[in-house]
Amino acid sequence: MSKKSDERENITRRNFLKSSIGITAATGVALGGLSLNPKDALASAPVPKKWHQKYDVIVIGSGFAGLAAAIEARNAGATVLIIEKMQVLGGNSIINGGDFCAAGTKMQEKNGVKDSPELMLKDMLKAGQYLNHPELAKIVAYGSKDALEWCENYIGANFTRLNFHGGHSVKRAHQTANASGSELVNKMIAKAKELNIKIETMTKLVRLIKNEKNRVVGIEVKKGYTFPDEKSGTQAFYKANKAVVLASGGFSRDIPLRQIHDPRLDEKFESTNHPGATGEALLAACMAGALDVQMDWIQLGPWTSPDEKGFGYVPPFCERLVGYGPMINPKTGRRFFKETGNRKERADAIILLGHPVIILGDSYAVDKQVFPRILQKGLENGAIKKFDTLEELAKHYNIPVEPFKEEISKWNSFVERKKDPDFDCMIFPDAKPTVTPPFYAARLWPKVHHTMGGLFINKDAQIIGFDLKPIPGLYGAGEVTGGIHGAVRLGGIAMADCIVFGRIAGKNAAKEKS
Ligand code: ADP
Repeated sequence: MSKKSDERENITRRNFLKSSIGITAATGVALGGLSLNPKDALASAPVPKKWHQKYDVIVIGSGFAGLAAAIEARNAGATVLIIEKMQVLGGNSIINGGDFCAAGTKMQEKNGVKDSPELMLKDMLKAGQYLNHPELAKIVAYGSKDALEWCENYIGANFTRLNFHGGHSVKRAHQTANASGSELVNKMIAKAKELNIKIETMTKLVRLIKNEKNRVVGIEVKKGYTFPDEKSGTQAFYKANKAVVLASGGFSRDIPLRQIHDPRLDEKFESTNHPGATGEALLAACMAGALDVQMDWIQLGPWTSPDEKGFGYVPPFCERLVGYGPMINPKTGRRFFKETGNRKERADAIILLGHPVIILGDSYAVDKQVFPRILQKGLENGAIKKFDTLEELAKHYNIPVEPFKEEISKWNSFVERKKDPDFDCMIFPDAKPTVTPPFYAARLWPKVHHTMGGLFINKDAQIIGFDLKPIPGLYGAGEVTGGIHGAVRLGGIAMADCIVFGRIAGKNAAKEKS
């Protein structure tokens, strides 16, 4: 293709994006996700004459899924390279809340929680509105305990507490010792280094390279790439003797791509994700013939605060309080929805009200439930507030005092009875009435959190193509894949999903013939 016609196509593509979703060049960062040159779209681009590097398995992305795949591929005897486009490793995984859902574990037994993979699967399918591909969801639910034990016993990560997330039937989220995904990611990085896995940051996947037999044989990258400068970096070709594993995460920060699938999610919706959560690697796979599924199921977190940037500290504050404290509509002073509902139900209910709502807890609930560092950081940045009385709290948020106090009394009576006839909120056995000062509260307004859709995989983590067959030499795991969670991913299932399917992808990638 001539340079001129290249340029023409580029312009046409830009116009299409502008006209169809009303974006301008000002959204440069997000557009970065879609700025592949059209010639990259050729499904069977020529295999380069010269490869700059050769490995058995190349993994794209350094989050939970990519690290798990790399470690398993290496342990199966493969030489392994991880590429990461950002300057830092860990993607969303390193900033996640560190809650790992697993069913039938020792910690659950110690805490008197009766659970099973069947029940976990049932919860996943119910929340997912039965759009989940059940065979994939089943692999996550039934593999969750083993995956958690691998993280504990082999990787050396510490899990110290059992948490609840809305939409689950029981407490099954095993919290890392520092209430952050960094506990696991950092230990996985250390393990990867110990195993001599090569890790290259600032290297961005641009295109998958296939041979004449439709097999993925390598990748084209931009080496020395400085996010989000699309002009940075130099072109290089890396050969994958056995396979490529895509573990490049979701596209919550890719405003054009997310708006193509859900036009409502414009730039007014903030995201909890790291800035590099854009979809170009997913699109590169589609351009190489991979099928995407359920791309318009994009999750808003119902527990984020408009008073802090990104993920912040309010999500773990809020989620530890549900089932212990009420969520209030500040306009009426009344509760308005089941606090322990799943993410979608709650986010939809808040958006329907059209303004931020309040979650609150007394000092009994907060001291018992909220991780001290999270509380301290939230108080420091001002997103969490502390009050000596309920009246003071009401005054601060402009809540009509009398209805609010009435509502708190009603809530307290439900807590005493452990039953909520108004909204059927789960009330935990150790919950107590909200009466003990000081009281803590935060405002909630949803942010884009997780993209349930993505590349379709089979139970062996092979990425499926448009001929409905696995694309030889191409595997996928983690948020870049779709169909496991259906309409709603439940809290704490991402870690299980990434580790379970990351390990499957890595093991199977290493089994491919060179
Ligand atoms: P998961 O939870 O699925 O493991 P994460 O968001 O934790 O996903 O990790 C995915 C990683 O992949 C992120 O660090 C992100 O920067 C990286 N990534 C995304 N796209 C590319 C790309 N085109 N090339 C290289 N790395 C990428």
